[in-house]
Amino acid sequence: MSIDTSLYGSSHSTLHPLECSILRMNDSEDRPRGRITIPQYAMALAHVASLRSEDPFRKVGAAALDFDNRVIGTAYNGLAPGFDAPDGFWDDRDQRQKFMLHAEVNLCSLFKRGEVKLMASTTMPCTSCMQTLCAYGIKEIYYRDIYSQSSAPEIAATYGIHFEQVTDYPLELT
Ligand SMILES: [Zn+2]
Repeated sequence: MSIDTSLYGSSHSTLHPLECSILRMNDSEDRPRGRITIPQYAMALAHVASLRSEDPFRKVGAAALDFDNRVIGTAYNGLAPGFDAPDGFWDDRDQRQKFMLHAEVNLCSLFKRGEVKLMASTTMPCTSCMQTLCAYGIKEIYYRDIYSQSSAPEIAATYGIHFEQVTDYPLELT
């Protein structure tokens, strides 16, 4: 078994035998190997947030991370805070649409411009949300599901925003 000495800042040959055995015990063989990437981490958070959406037709979650990859917050699509949908509100899929606050807009209510490095959304931002994300200065945007009516890809390309689909985000260690 080899030891990745780069993790410990010293070469293999300088280690005392006891140190070697300690390193072996702590080596990756005894640890879960899977470590998800930052975009996967953000998407997994967005995925969990989407589970809280009250929209029976389309559940969208989003997550924002700062420049140290710390979580600023998560959000999902829904009605304005404090609004209780009357009976029959959800019966008409088209009519409800104009009242829905999109996950990305709700997310942007949690921070100021320049505070967020990256965001992830379980659905590609619509054109309007993409414009809002641009206004907040977000330079990395990850999405899971494609939204074909959105101009987000074109907006991202124009403004130099990293725009990438992330569909593989294991929720358990692999
Ligand atoms: Zn939107």
